[in-house]
Amino acid sequence: MGTGRKVALGIAVGAALGVAVGTRRQLSALVGRALTGRSGVPVSSGAAAAFPDKELIRACVHCGLCLPYCPTYRALGLEGDSPRGRIYQMKLVVEGKIDPGEPEFRLHMFRCLDCRACETACPSGVQYGRLIEAARSLLPPASTAESLARRAILGTALDSPAALAVVGLASRVYQRTGLQRAVRSAGVLRLAPPLQRMDSMLPSLRGALLTGTLPEYTPAQGQPRFRVAMLRGCVAAQFFPQTNYATIAVLATNGCDVLVPPDQGCCGALQNHSGDRETARRLARRNIDVFLPLHPDYVVVNSAGCGSMMKEYGDLLADDPAYAAWAKEFSAKVRDVTELLAALPLRAPQRPLRRTITYQDACHLGHGQKIREAPRQVLRAIPGLELRELKESDWCCGSAGIYNVTQPELSEQILGWKMANVAATGADTITAANPGCLIQLEHGLRERGLHVKTAHPVDLLAEAYGFDLTRPEAALDESHL
Ligand code: SF4
Ligand code: SF4
Repeated sequence: MGTGRKVALGIAVGAALGVAVGTRRQLSALVGRALTGRSGVPVSSGAAAAFPDKELIRACVHCGLCLPYCPTYRALGLEGDSPRGRIYQMKLVVEGKIDPGEPEFRLHMFRCLDCRACETACPSGVQYGRLIEAARSLLPPASTAESLARRAILGTALDSPAALAVVGLASRVYQRTGLQRAVRSAGVLRLAPPLQRMDSMLPSLRGALLTGTLPEYTPAQGQPRFRVAMLRGCVAAQFFPQTNYATIAVLATNGCDVLVPPDQGCCGALQNHSGDRETARRLARRNIDVFLPLHPDYVVVNSAGCGSMMKEYGDLLADDPAYAAWAKEFSAKVRDVTELLAALPLRAPQRPLRRTITYQDACHLGHGQKIREAPRQVLRAIPGLELRELKESDWCCGSAGIYNVTQPELSEQILGWKMANVAATGADTITAANPGCLIQLEHGLRERGLHVKTAHPVDLLAEAYGFDLTRPEAALDESHL
Protein backbone atom coordinates (compact mmCIF):
# COMPACT_ATOMS: atom_id res chain seq x y z
CA MET A 1 0.00 0.00 0.00
CA GLY A 2 1.38 3.47 -0.89
CA THR A 3 2.17 5.95 1.85
CA GLY A 4 -0.73 8.25 0.93
CA ARG A 5 -3.29 5.44 1.14
CA LYS A 6 -1.67 4.17 4.32
CA VAL A 7 -2.07 7.62 5.90
CA ALA A 8 -5.67 8.00 4.70
CA LEU A 9 -6.57 4.56 6.03
CA GLY A 10 -4.72 5.40 9.20
CA ILE A 11 -6.69 8.61 9.71
CA ALA A 12 -9.95 6.66 9.39
CA VAL A 13 -8.72 3.90 11.68
CA GLY A 14 -7.24 6.45 14.03
CA ALA A 15 -10.46 8.43 14.28
CA ALA A 16 -12.39 5.24 15.04
CA LEU A 17 -9.71 4.18 17.46
CA GLY A 18 -9.74 7.53 19.21
CA VAL A 19 -13.49 7.23 19.78
CA ALA A 20 -13.14 3.63 20.88
CA VAL A 21 -10.35 4.51 23.24
CA GLY A 22 -12.28 7.45 24.57
CA THR A 23 -15.33 5.36 25.38
CA ARG A 24 -13.66 2.12 26.37
CA ARG A 25 -10.93 3.59 28.46
CA GLN A 26 -10.55 6.83 30.24
CA LEU A 27 -9.04 9.50 28.04
CA SER A 28 -6.45 11.57 29.80
CA ALA A 29 -8.11 14.02 32.16
CA LEU A 30 -5.59 16.57 31.03
CA VAL A 31 -6.62 16.36 27.39
CA GLY A 32 -10.23 16.24 28.47
CA ARG A 33 -9.97 19.48 30.40
CA ALA A 34 -8.27 21.22 27.52
CA LEU A 35 -10.89 19.98 25.08
CA THR A 36 -13.66 21.39 27.20
CA GLY A 37 -11.90 24.74 27.16
CA ARG A 38 -11.10 24.95 30.84
CA SER A 39 -7.57 26.14 30.48
CA GLY A 40 -7.00 29.16 28.28
CA VAL A 41 -3.40 29.32 29.41
CA PRO A 42 -1.38 31.91 27.51
CA VAL A 43 1.37 30.52 25.30
CA SER A 44 4.50 30.68 27.39
CA SER A 45 7.72 31.90 25.82
CA GLY A 46 9.27 28.69 27.16
CA ALA A 47 6.89 26.54 25.10
CA ALA A 48 7.50 28.67 22.03
CA ALA A 49 11.27 28.37 22.48
CA ALA A 50 11.16 24.62 23.14
CA PHE A 51 9.20 23.99 19.95
CA PRO A 52 10.76 26.50 17.54
CA ASP A 53 9.71 24.42 14.54
CA LYS A 54 5.92 24.09 14.78
CA GLU A 55 5.95 21.94 11.63
CA LEU A 56 7.34 19.13 13.74
CA ILE A 57 4.04 18.98 15.63
CA ARG A 58 1.87 19.63 12.59
CA ALA A 59 3.48 16.67 10.81
CA CYS A 60 1.36 14.36 12.98
CA VAL A 61 -1.96 13.73 11.23
CA HIS A 62 -3.30 11.74 14.20
CA CYS A 63 -3.72 8.60 12.10
CA GLY A 64 -2.81 6.28 14.98
CA LEU A 65 -0.73 3.89 12.87
CA CYS A 66 2.01 4.16 15.48
CA LEU A 67 -0.19 3.01 18.37
CA PRO A 68 0.30 -0.76 17.98
CA TYR A 69 4.08 -0.25 18.18
CA CYS A 70 4.12 1.83 21.35
CA PRO A 71 5.09 -0.15 24.48
CA THR A 72 3.43 2.26 26.92
CA TYR A 73 0.19 2.18 24.94
CA ARG A 74 0.31 -1.61 24.90
CA ALA A 75 0.94 -1.66 28.66
CA LEU A 76 -1.58 0.99 29.74
CA GLY A 77 -4.10 1.22 26.89
CA LEU A 78 -4.40 4.98 27.43
CA GLU A 79 -4.53 7.48 24.59
CA GLY A 80 -2.55 9.92 26.75
CA ASP A 81 0.27 7.34 26.85
CA SER A 82 0.37 6.78 23.11
CA PRO A 83 2.54 8.73 20.61
CA ARG A 84 -0.55 10.35 19.10
CA GLY A 85 -1.89 11.34 22.51
CA ARG A 86 1.42 12.74 23.65
CA ILE A 87 1.88 14.80 20.49
CA TYR A 88 -1.65 16.11 20.91
CA GLN A 89 -0.84 17.22 24.44
CA MET A 90 2.30 19.00 23.16
CA LYS A 91 0.14 20.76 20.57
CA LEU A 92 -2.19 21.96 23.33
CA VAL A 93 0.80 23.28 25.29
CA VAL A 94 2.14 25.15 22.27
CA GLU A 95 -1.32 26.62 21.62
CA GLY A 96 -1.48 27.74 25.24
CA LYS A 97 -4.51 25.58 26.00
CA ILE A 98 -2.81 23.68 28.80
CA ASP A 99 0.02 24.52 31.10
CA PRO A 100 3.09 22.27 30.85
CA GLY A 101 3.18 22.46 34.65
CA GLU A 102 0.02 20.27 34.83
CA PRO A 103 0.98 17.10 36.71
CA GLU A 104 -0.73 14.91 34.12
CA PHE A 105 1.23 16.43 31.25
CA ARG A 106 4.39 15.67 33.16
CA LEU A 107 3.21 12.13 33.93
CA HIS A 108 2.52 11.26 30.28
CA MET A 109 5.74 12.86 29.02
CA PHE A 110 7.92 10.99 31.52
CA ARG A 111 6.05 7.69 31.08
CA CYS A 112 7.32 7.72 27.47
CA LEU A 113 10.38 5.52 26.98
CA ASP A 114 11.77 7.78 24.24
CA CYS A 115 12.31 4.49 22.41
CA ARG A 116 11.28 6.06 19.07
CA ALA A 117 9.48 2.95 17.84
CA CYS A 118 6.70 5.35 16.81
CA GLU A 119 9.15 7.14 14.49
CA THR A 120 9.82 3.90 12.64
CA ALA A 121 6.10 3.13 12.40
CA CYS A 122 4.99 6.63 11.37
CA PRO A 123 4.34 7.02 7.62
CA SER A 124 4.26 10.83 7.94
CA GLY A 125 7.87 11.12 9.09
CA VAL A 126 7.09 12.59 12.52
CA GLN A 127 10.35 13.22 14.39
CA TYR A 128 9.02 12.10 17.72
CA GLY A 129 12.42 12.02 19.47
CA ARG A 130 12.90 15.74 18.93
CA LEU A 131 9.36 16.42 20.13
CA ILE A 132 9.56 14.49 23.39
CA GLU A 133 12.93 16.00 24.24
CA ALA A 134 11.53 19.48 23.59
CA ALA A 135 8.49 18.71 25.76
CA ARG A 136 10.63 17.46 28.62
CA SER A 137 12.83 20.54 28.47
CA LEU A 138 9.73 22.48 29.61
CA LEU A 139 9.45 20.41 32.77
CA PRO A 140 11.56 21.49 35.72
CA PRO A 141 12.32 18.95 38.47
CA ALA A 142 9.15 18.07 40.42
CA SER A 143 10.77 18.46 43.84
CA THR A 144 13.89 19.73 45.55
CA ALA A 145 15.07 16.15 45.98
CA GLU A 146 14.72 15.50 42.24
CA SER A 147 16.49 18.76 41.48
CA LEU A 148 19.40 17.84 43.74
CA ALA A 149 19.58 14.29 42.35
CA ARG A 150 19.55 15.59 38.77
CA ARG A 151 22.30 18.07 39.53
CA ALA A 152 24.44 15.58 41.47
CA ILE A 153 24.09 12.62 39.10
CA LEU A 154 23.35 13.98 35.64
CA GLY A 155 25.14 17.31 36.03
CA THR A 156 28.24 16.24 37.95
CA ALA A 157 28.86 12.54 38.65
CA LEU A 158 28.39 11.25 35.08
CA ASP A 159 30.99 13.73 33.90
CA SER A 160 33.51 13.06 36.64
CA PRO A 161 35.98 10.21 35.95
CA ALA A 162 36.92 10.21 39.66
CA ALA A 163 33.30 9.81 40.83
CA LEU A 164 32.69 7.10 38.23
CA ALA A 165 35.86 5.25 39.32
CA VAL A 166 34.59 5.28 42.92
CA VAL A 167 31.25 3.82 41.76
CA GLY A 168 33.08 1.11 39.77
CA LEU A 169 35.43 0.27 42.65
CA ALA A 170 32.65 0.18 45.26
CA SER A 171 30.50 -2.05 43.04
CA ARG A 172 33.35 -4.53 42.46
CA VAL A 173 34.25 -4.64 46.15
CA TYR A 174 30.57 -5.22 46.95
CA GLN A 175 30.43 -8.16 44.53
CA ARG A 176 33.85 -9.71 45.05
CA THR A 177 34.00 -9.70 48.85
CA GLY A 178 30.78 -11.73 49.02
CA LEU A 179 28.96 -8.77 50.56
CA GLN A 180 26.36 -8.81 47.79
CA ARG A 181 25.61 -12.52 48.37
CA ALA A 182 25.36 -11.98 52.14
CA VAL A 183 23.09 -8.95 51.78
CA ARG A 184 20.83 -10.78 49.34
CA SER A 185 20.48 -13.92 51.43
CA ALA A 186 19.80 -11.88 54.59
CA GLY A 187 16.98 -10.13 52.71
CA VAL A 188 17.77 -6.78 54.36
CA LEU A 189 17.30 -4.84 51.13
CA ARG A 190 13.58 -5.57 51.24
CA LEU A 191 13.45 -2.78 53.81
CA ALA A 192 14.83 -0.27 51.29
CA PRO A 193 13.19 -0.91 47.88
CA PRO A 194 15.28 1.67 45.93
CA LEU A 195 18.51 0.03 47.19
CA GLN A 196 17.09 -3.41 46.45
CA ARG A 197 16.40 -2.27 42.90
CA MET A 198 19.90 -0.84 42.46
CA ASP A 199 21.36 -4.09 43.74
CA SER A 200 19.27 -6.17 41.38
CA MET A 201 20.30 -3.98 38.40
CA LEU A 202 24.04 -4.34 39.07
CA PRO A 203 25.55 -6.49 36.31
CA SER A 204 28.30 -9.08 36.95
CA LEU A 205 31.41 -6.94 36.73
CA ARG A 206 34.57 -8.08 35.01
CA GLY A 207 38.07 -6.66 35.05
CA ALA A 208 40.39 -5.37 37.76
CA LEU A 209 39.02 -3.71 40.92
CA LEU A 210 40.13 -0.36 39.57
CA THR A 211 39.37 -0.05 35.88
CA GLY A 212 42.60 0.73 34.04
CA THR A 213 43.14 3.74 31.83
CA LEU A 214 42.56 2.95 28.17
CA PRO A 215 45.59 3.48 25.90
CA GLU A 216 45.51 6.89 24.26
CA TYR A 217 46.82 5.41 21.02
CA THR A 218 46.67 1.88 19.66
CA PRO A 219 48.23 1.41 16.23
CA ALA A 220 46.50 -0.42 13.40
CA GLN A 221 47.62 -3.91 12.54
CA GLY A 222 49.17 -3.79 9.10
CA GLN A 223 48.52 -0.90 6.73
CA PRO A 224 46.34 1.74 8.49
CA ARG A 225 43.01 2.28 6.77
CA PHE A 226 41.42 4.79 9.10
CA ARG A 227 42.23 7.03 12.01
CA VAL A 228 39.39 6.71 14.51
CA ALA A 229 38.73 8.32 17.89
CA MET A 230 36.70 6.33 20.41
CA LEU A 231 34.18 7.48 23.01
CA ARG A 232 34.79 5.47 26.17
CA GLY A 233 31.44 6.29 27.82
CA CYS A 234 30.72 7.07 31.47
CA VAL A 235 29.03 4.35 33.57
CA ALA A 236 29.63 1.84 30.74
CA ALA A 237 33.39 2.36 31.00
CA GLN A 238 33.19 1.17 34.61
CA PHE A 239 30.62 -1.59 34.22
CA PHE A 240 31.71 -2.96 30.82
CA PRO A 241 35.47 -2.28 30.53
CA GLN A 242 35.79 -5.44 28.42
CA THR A 243 33.68 -3.86 25.66
CA ASN A 244 35.97 -0.83 25.40
CA TYR A 245 39.04 -3.09 25.18
CA ALA A 246 37.23 -5.34 22.69
CA THR A 247 36.33 -2.30 20.56
CA ILE A 248 39.93 -1.07 20.46
CA ALA A 249 41.24 -4.57 19.72
CA VAL A 250 38.72 -5.26 16.95
CA LEU A 251 39.26 -1.87 15.29
CA ALA A 252 43.06 -2.15 15.41
CA THR A 253 42.84 -5.71 14.03
CA ASN A 254 40.87 -4.28 11.13
CA GLY A 255 43.38 -1.60 10.21
CA CYS A 256 42.32 1.37 12.36
CA ASP A 257 44.65 3.59 14.35
CA VAL A 258 42.60 4.05 17.52
CA LEU A 259 42.75 7.20 19.63
CA VAL A 260 41.06 7.51 23.03
CA PRO A 261 41.35 11.16 24.07
CA PRO A 262 41.66 11.26 27.87
CA ASP A 263 39.84 14.60 28.29
CA GLN A 264 36.59 13.42 26.67
CA GLY A 265 33.43 13.40 28.76
CA CYS A 266 29.88 12.14 28.99
CA CYS A 267 27.95 12.42 25.69
CA GLY A 268 24.94 14.20 27.27
CA ALA A 269 22.29 11.65 26.22
CA LEU A 270 20.81 11.01 29.67
CA GLN A 271 20.71 14.75 30.37
CA ASN A 272 19.01 15.51 27.06
CA HIS A 273 16.43 12.74 27.49
CA SER A 274 15.65 14.08 30.94
CA GLY A 275 14.99 17.54 29.57
CA ASP A 276 18.24 19.16 30.71
CA ARG A 277 19.35 20.48 27.35
CA GLU A 278 21.73 23.07 28.74
CA THR A 279 23.90 20.44 30.42
CA ALA A 280 23.71 18.30 27.27
CA ARG A 281 24.91 21.28 25.20
CA ARG A 282 27.78 21.96 27.60
CA LEU A 283 28.90 18.33 27.33
CA ALA A 284 28.54 18.34 23.55
CA ARG A 285 30.74 21.44 23.23
CA ARG A 286 33.40 19.84 25.40
CA ASN A 287 33.50 16.64 23.31
CA ILE A 288 33.67 18.65 20.09
CA ASP A 289 36.64 20.59 21.52
CA VAL A 290 38.39 17.35 22.46
CA PHE A 291 37.66 15.16 19.41
CA LEU A 292 37.72 17.45 16.37
CA PRO A 293 41.31 18.75 16.78
CA LEU A 294 42.47 15.11 16.49
CA HIS A 295 41.19 15.09 12.88
CA PRO A 296 39.76 11.57 13.03
CA ASP A 297 38.14 10.00 9.98
CA TYR A 298 35.45 8.71 12.35
CA VAL A 299 34.33 9.08 15.94
CA VAL A 300 33.47 5.53 17.00
CA VAL A 301 30.96 4.64 19.69
CA ASN A 302 30.00 1.25 21.15
CA SER A 303 26.92 2.50 22.98
CA ALA A 304 23.81 3.04 20.85
CA GLY A 305 22.40 5.72 23.16
CA CYS A 306 25.61 7.75 23.09
CA GLY A 307 26.02 7.34 19.32
CA SER A 308 22.48 8.51 18.69
CA MET A 309 23.05 11.59 20.86
CA MET A 310 26.37 12.43 19.21
CA LYS A 311 24.82 12.15 15.76
CA GLU A 312 22.37 14.82 16.96
CA TYR A 313 24.95 17.35 18.21
CA GLY A 314 24.34 19.23 14.94
CA ASP A 315 20.69 19.77 15.97
CA LEU A 316 21.45 20.33 19.62
CA LEU A 317 23.87 23.18 18.86
CA ALA A 318 22.18 24.51 15.72
CA ASP A 319 21.48 27.85 17.42
CA ASP A 320 24.97 28.26 18.83
CA PRO A 321 26.80 30.50 16.35
CA ALA A 322 30.21 29.49 17.71
CA TYR A 323 29.61 25.74 17.54
CA ALA A 324 26.88 25.06 14.96
CA ALA A 325 29.25 24.26 12.06
CA TRP A 326 31.63 22.21 14.22
CA ALA A 327 28.73 20.28 15.72
CA LYS A 328 27.53 19.36 12.22
CA GLU A 329 31.02 18.31 11.21
CA PHE A 330 31.40 16.26 14.39
CA SER A 331 28.02 14.50 13.98
CA ALA A 332 28.85 13.55 10.38
CA LYS A 333 31.89 11.64 11.65
CA VAL A 334 30.08 9.57 14.29
CA ARG A 335 29.72 5.83 13.63
CA ASP A 336 28.45 3.01 15.73
CA VAL A 337 31.27 0.45 15.93
CA THR A 338 29.16 -2.20 14.16
CA GLU A 339 28.27 0.31 11.44
CA LEU A 340 31.95 0.97 10.72
CA LEU A 341 32.95 -2.70 10.92
CA ALA A 342 30.18 -3.80 8.56
CA ALA A 343 31.31 -1.20 6.01
CA LEU A 344 34.88 -2.58 6.01
CA PRO A 345 36.10 -5.70 4.40
CA LEU A 346 36.20 -7.39 7.84
CA ARG A 347 39.23 -9.55 8.62
CA ALA A 348 37.82 -13.07 8.97
CA PRO A 349 37.82 -14.26 12.58
CA GLN A 350 39.44 -17.69 12.89
CA ARG A 351 38.29 -18.97 16.27
CA PRO A 352 34.84 -20.62 16.13
CA LEU A 353 32.40 -19.77 18.92
CA ARG A 354 30.02 -22.67 19.50
CA ARG A 355 27.12 -20.56 20.77
CA THR A 356 23.50 -19.99 19.90
CA ILE A 357 22.76 -16.31 20.13
CA THR A 358 19.91 -13.91 19.67
CA TYR A 359 20.08 -10.18 19.05
CA GLN A 360 18.16 -7.32 20.65
CA ASP A 361 17.92 -4.15 18.52
CA ALA A 362 18.74 -1.35 20.96
CA CYS A 363 16.13 1.39 20.39
CA HIS A 364 18.70 4.11 19.73
CA LEU A 365 20.47 1.92 17.21
CA GLY A 366 17.44 0.46 15.38
CA HIS A 367 14.94 3.30 15.66
CA GLY A 368 17.29 6.20 16.47
CA GLN A 369 20.09 5.48 13.97
CA LYS A 370 18.24 3.06 11.63
CA ILE A 371 21.07 0.55 11.98
CA ARG A 372 19.67 -2.97 11.96
CA GLU A 373 21.65 -5.06 9.52
CA ALA A 374 25.24 -4.05 10.47
CA PRO A 375 25.36 -5.76 13.90
CA ARG A 376 23.78 -8.91 12.45
CA GLN A 377 26.35 -8.85 9.64
CA VAL A 378 29.17 -8.63 12.19
CA LEU A 379 27.70 -11.52 14.19
CA ARG A 380 27.22 -13.67 11.08
CA ALA A 381 30.94 -13.24 10.31
CA ILE A 382 31.83 -15.23 13.45
CA PRO A 383 32.38 -18.91 12.65
CA GLY A 384 30.36 -21.41 14.68
CA LEU A 385 27.81 -18.85 15.89
CA GLU A 386 24.14 -19.57 15.28
CA LEU A 387 22.00 -16.42 15.18
CA ARG A 388 18.33 -16.94 16.03
CA GLU A 389 16.03 -13.99 15.44
CA LEU A 390 14.20 -12.65 18.47
CA LYS A 391 10.47 -11.95 18.19
CA GLU A 392 9.86 -8.21 18.63
CA SER A 393 13.62 -7.66 18.66
CA ASP A 394 13.08 -3.93 18.07
CA TRP A 395 10.71 -3.50 21.04
CA CYS A 396 12.27 -1.65 23.94
CA CYS A 397 13.52 -3.82 26.83
CA GLY A 398 12.36 -1.23 29.38
CA SER A 399 15.82 0.12 30.12
CA ALA A 400 15.51 3.43 28.23
CA GLY A 401 18.24 5.47 29.91
CA ILE A 402 17.14 5.77 33.54
CA TYR A 403 13.53 4.66 32.91
CA ASN A 404 14.13 1.39 34.80
CA VAL A 405 14.87 3.55 37.86
CA THR A 406 12.25 6.27 37.41
CA GLN A 407 9.37 4.01 36.22
CA PRO A 408 10.17 0.63 37.80
CA GLU A 409 6.71 -0.99 37.47
CA LEU A 410 6.24 -0.18 33.79
CA SER A 411 9.84 -1.04 33.04
CA GLU A 412 9.36 -4.49 34.62
CA GLN A 413 6.18 -5.14 32.67
CA ILE A 414 7.93 -4.28 29.40
CA LEU A 415 10.96 -6.37 30.39
CA GLY A 416 8.63 -9.32 31.07
CA TRP A 417 7.50 -9.38 27.40
CA LYS A 418 11.14 -9.31 26.30
CA MET A 419 12.14 -12.15 28.61
CA ALA A 420 9.34 -14.39 27.29
CA ASN A 421 10.60 -13.81 23.74
CA VAL A 422 14.23 -14.43 24.73
CA ALA A 423 13.29 -17.71 26.45
CA ALA A 424 11.39 -18.81 23.32
CA THR A 425 14.54 -18.58 21.17
CA GLY A 426 16.39 -21.17 23.25
CA ALA A 427 19.56 -19.09 22.74
CA ASP A 428 22.40 -19.33 25.26
CA THR A 429 23.47 -15.70 24.72
CA ILE A 430 21.68 -12.45 23.99
CA THR A 431 23.60 -9.59 22.42
CA ALA A 432 22.79 -5.89 22.29
CA ALA A 433 24.92 -2.93 21.24
CA ASN A 434 24.04 -0.75 24.19
CA PRO A 435 25.22 -1.03 27.81
CA GLY A 436 21.87 0.08 29.27
CA CYS A 437 20.09 -2.78 27.46
CA LEU A 438 22.74 -5.26 28.64
CA ILE A 439 22.19 -4.17 32.27
CA GLN A 440 18.42 -4.50 31.94
CA LEU A 441 18.56 -7.84 30.11
CA GLU A 442 20.97 -9.37 32.62
CA HIS A 443 18.73 -8.18 35.45
CA GLY A 444 15.63 -9.72 33.81
CA LEU A 445 17.39 -13.02 33.10
CA ARG A 446 18.76 -13.30 36.64
CA GLU A 447 15.42 -12.51 38.26
CA ARG A 448 13.76 -15.26 36.23
CA GLY A 449 16.53 -17.83 36.66
CA LEU A 450 17.13 -17.96 32.88
CA HIS A 451 20.63 -19.23 32.06
CA VAL A 452 21.32 -16.90 29.17
CA LYS A 453 24.51 -14.83 28.96
CA THR A 454 24.68 -11.24 27.76
CA ALA A 455 27.33 -9.70 25.51
CA HIS A 456 27.97 -6.79 23.18
CA PRO A 457 28.52 -7.93 19.55
CA VAL A 458 32.12 -6.65 19.60
CA ASP A 459 32.83 -8.75 22.72
CA LEU A 460 31.99 -11.84 20.66
CA LEU A 461 33.96 -10.65 17.65
CA ALA A 462 37.02 -9.93 19.82
CA GLU A 463 36.73 -13.42 21.31
CA ALA A 464 36.58 -14.89 17.81
CA TYR A 465 39.81 -13.00 17.01
CA GLY A 466 41.41 -14.70 20.03
CA PHE A 467 41.35 -11.86 22.58
CA ASP A 468 40.91 -12.91 26.21
CA LEU A 469 38.19 -10.68 27.67
CA THR A 470 38.21 -12.38 31.07
CA ARG A 471 41.24 -10.13 31.68
CA PRO A 472 40.22 -7.12 29.60
CA GLU A 473 43.11 -4.94 30.72
CA ALA A 474 45.50 -7.55 29.24
CA ALA A 475 43.59 -7.91 25.99
CA LEU A 476 45.74 -5.36 24.20
CA ASP A 477 49.06 -7.03 25.06
CA GLU A 478 51.81 -6.77 22.50
CA SER A 479 51.34 -10.49 21.89
CA HIS A 480 47.91 -9.80 20.44
CA LEU A 481 48.46 -6.64 18.45
S1 SF4 B 1 2.96 10.03 14.96
FE1 SF4 B 1 2.70 9.41 12.82
S2 SF4 B 1 1.72 7.40 12.91
FE2 SF4 B 1 1.45 8.35 14.93
S3 SF4 B 1 -0.53 9.38 14.83
FE3 SF4 B 1 1.00 10.91 14.25
S4 SF4 B 1 1.13 10.79 12.01
FE4 SF4 B 1 0.08 8.91 12.70
S1 SF4 C 1 8.91 6.88 22.05
FE1 SF4 C 1 8.24 4.75 22.48
S2 SF4 C 1 7.06 4.90 24.40
FE2 SF4 C 1 7.27 7.00 23.60
S3 SF4 C 1 5.42 7.35 22.42
FE3 SF4 C 1 6.96 6.58 20.95
S4 SF4 C 1 6.68 4.35 20.91
FE4 SF4 C 1 5.59 5.12 22.72
